[in-house]
Amino acid sequence: GLIPENSSVQSTGRSHVESKWTDTKSYSVKKKLQSWFQLPDGNWELGTILSTAGAEVVISLSGEKILKVNSDDLLPANPDILDGVDDLMQLSYLNEPSVLYNLQYRYNRDMIYTKAGPVLVAINPFKKVPLYGNNFIEAYRVKTTDSPHVYAITDTAMREMIRDEVNQSIIISGESGAGKTETAKIAMQYLAALGGGSGIEYEILKTNPILEAFGNAKTLRNDNSSRFGKLIEIHFSETGKIAGANIQTFLLEKSRVVQCTEGERSYHIFYQLCRGAPKSLREKLYLRNWDEYKYLSQSNCHAISGVDDAEQFRVVQEALDVVHVSKTDQESVFAMLSAVLWLGNISFTVLDNENHVEPVEDEGLVNVATLIGCGIAELKLALSTRKMKVRNDIIVQKLTLSQAIDTRDALAKSIYSCLFDWLVEQINKSLAVGKRRTGRSISILDIYGFESFERNSFEQFCINYANERLQQHFNRHLFKLEQEEYIQDGIDWAKVDFEDNQDCLNLFEKKPLGLLSLLDEESTFPNGTDMTFANKLKQHLKANSCFRGERDNAFSVCHYAGEVTYDTTGFLEKNRDLLHLDSIQLLSSCTCHLPQIFASIMLTQSEKPVVGPLHKSGGVESQKLSVATKFKGQLFQLMHRLENTTPHFIRCIKPNNLQSPGVYDQKLVLQQLRCCGVLEVVRISRSGFPTRMSHQKFARRYGFLLLDHVASQDPLSVSVAILHQFNILPEMYQVGYTKLFFRTGQIGVLEDTRNRT
Ligand code: ATP
Ligand code: MG
Repeated sequence: GLIPENSSVQSTGRSHVESKWTDTKSYSVKKKLQSWFQLPDGNWELGTILSTAGAEVVISLSGEKILKVNSDDLLPANPDILDGVDDLMQLSYLNEPSVLYNLQYRYNRDMIYTKAGPVLVAINPFKKVPLYGNNFIEAYRVKTTDSPHVYAITDTAMREMIRDEVNQSIIISGESGAGKTETAKIAMQYLAALGGGSGIEYEILKTNPILEAFGNAKTLRNDNSSRFGKLIEIHFSETGKIAGANIQTFLLEKSRVVQCTEGERSYHIFYQLCRGAPKSLREKLYLRNWDEYKYLSQSNCHAISGVDDAEQFRVVQEALDVVHVSKTDQESVFAMLSAVLWLGNISFTVLDNENHVEPVEDEGLVNVATLIGCGIAELKLALSTRKMKVRNDIIVQKLTLSQAIDTRDALAKSIYSCLFDWLVEQINKSLAVGKRRTGRSISILDIYGFESFERNSFEQFCINYANERLQQHFNRHLFKLEQEEYIQDGIDWAKVDFEDNQDCLNLFEKKPLGLLSLLDEESTFPNGTDMTFANKLKQHLKANSCFRGERDNAFSVCHYAGEVTYDTTGFLEKNRDLLHLDSIQLLSSCTCHLPQIFASIMLTQSEKPVVGPLHKSGGVESQKLSVATKFKGQLFQLMHRLENTTPHFIRCIKPNNLQSPGVYDQKLVLQQLRCCGVLEVVRISRSGFPTRMSHQKFARRYGFLLLDHVASQDPLSVSVAILHQFNILPEMYQVGYTKLFFRTGQIGVLEDTRNRT
């Protein structure tokens, strides 16, 4: 018989099927049906239902295994014809195993791209896949293919920019190693191919090796991990040609310069310089092998398999030429890198029993002084003393060993990050949009995805806050898209609920009692510590539903992607990010060849205070924005820019943690699908009418199932007759001008019948 699917509504409540998007409502366990069964290891296996008795189901799995299971442990599988569909929206059942299976089915066939409604899902192949290059670019340009691809998304962006005269953005997210940076480059290639001609596209492509050399490093997760966020805005002329570009970077991980985890490397450029600099440059800049530098040798990792650092150095130099950084400036840049490396080799001797120290006057100290252009005596003083203001007098305090090391490392980090900013500035000057600017642009955002580790610190705090903002942007946009499609096809716009993460954002942003305000406040207190900060959070935020105090100095936040526990150790110091006045004065007196680099230190360190007078905290310190506040400002500016664009989303997925091809780890993929919001897209769509089929297609596909003769043969009449015959309840579908809209799972019963007939 033909039982309407909704006749038996199954309830969930099983913890392992915790997903918000299981299709339980429209599914009843039926004989002969293909079903997903969750194995004890958490993976899903496809089985065929042999018989049912109450909640008890007998199912046959692969390998002639026959099990008696509870129907609650099953989820419906899609009919075979839906295997490997290129848009997850086409699945009748949008449950987790079905989505995982579909993505895996495609991945195994090198189809790494799949649409999830308006979102492009990209699974990292970790090998060369034959999907790129001029032939493919041409095919997407002339539309001889429409399978999901970065090229297709980029093409849409390009067309919509021209058609609607609205700026576009391509927002790429995903966790480390998922393929964001590669994806961004693939999009840039497409734009360069379509909008090239002036030669500026070549310069734009050459910014990649430069920024990767200075801002990427080998980590345990990714041999080429970007340690900064990047927005590149590519401008177009009236005729659709690239006219210029502008790059903005976010939150470079400076700490890596002075310290990195075992098995990771510092920034690529250091190894490239040590291995690739010609003899003359080595002598001029006092360069040594990487293993003679403490900053580089401490992590026991110096090479990347398959990468030739010396060769890369030449690639970077060439790229610097292309973006018009003069040879003289390039040499100054390398001199600063050498200075940073030598700074790490400066050691201290203890002078007295109070642990006061003085730098050892060795090769390292002399080289640093020479390279940055200051006197040896000044450098020694800056590294071993601190000026303090006591009432109206300035007194000089000697530093202890750990203070001196911190001061030295802070100097190295500052020089490096200023160098990075300076380079970005030079690149931007070179790519500057000329007079022919039209104001039309496509921006590509390559930004760190949501992070949740064993131990989460200040960096994760900032990154996850950024992701929370981006997620809101994503939700609101998709919500709007849904609405527009319904309105276009003239159907009732039933309000679709979607989960807003405004509460979590409020937890971060509310003044004066939000995470960021409280962090800034505590950062200005002389006696503030990571512990007092944690206690203050627990005291003021305990009523907030997105917040939970944890033991010791930890707290948890309920992010859209899951709960993360942060350890406040180091929060205050990282947020203050102080460079002592002594160091600033030292740098400002330097006679090195790139005074502009240090000029930017002066600038960033003397910004207007928003967190209150910092001098209270002990030393004579310059007043400046806290790191979190500066980041929030950048983020707001970014969101403002993105809000004025039509966004296109790409979610990158890492199929395994081994950086290997051909390995598809279901649990890892699922966790990312949940984190990066693909689940949300599906959920938002599910709460509406996600299955859409034109009247023609519907009539053609199911018309033969009609038992009674239909007077009129027009597609709409045939469609309506089918709906009646199958008892599809009115609330389960809507008839639009051109299409039929169904709630999830409704097509499934028609397909089953069709297949059995
Ligand atoms: P992070 O957040 O650490 O910067 P990411 O998301 O930017 O990570 P990528 O550096 O883009 O990750 O990718 C990691 C590696 O995966 C690349 O170095 C490359 O080897 C491989 N990879 C990614 N995408 C592709 C692709 N489309 N084709 C082939 N290999 C790829
Ligand atoms: Mg990257």
